[in-house]
Amino acid sequence: MTDCIFCRIVAGEIPGERVLEDERFIAIRDINPKADVHVLVIPREHRRDLDDFVAASGDGGAMLAFVTATARELGVEGRYRLITSVGSDAGQEVFHLHWHILSGGRLPGF
Ligand code: AMP
Repeated sequence: MTDCIFCRIVAGEIPGERVLEDERFIAIRDINPKADVHVLVIPREHRRDLDDFVAASGDGGAMLAFVTATARELGVEGRYRLITSVGSDAGQEVFHLHWHILSGGRLPGF
């Protein structure tokens, strides 16, 4: 999917500040951070959203283990918020699955 911005970051075609990566996932700094720490966890394989990832038998356990490894790498374990949006009505803007890891200070409640 060459028109997908996250696929292009995964492929190294456009820059992304990588925090952690393995053979299935990468974690990059969000270009427009909404908290002191704002990192996106992205599967290398293109999946539109979490529903698509699960329908394609993606390994959700491995993905969440990678999220916690990223939080450890960032030094925010025990104090972060994890969000993913599914669909434009939920606020999704980039249609390649990503988890937002947000931390820093005391985040506002919902
Ligand atoms: P969402 O609204 O959940 O789809 O979130 C998309 C996120 O991707 C936003 O927080 C954007 O700031 C972020 N974003 C968009 N383009 C880039 C990019 N090139 N590098 C890093 N983050 C990006």
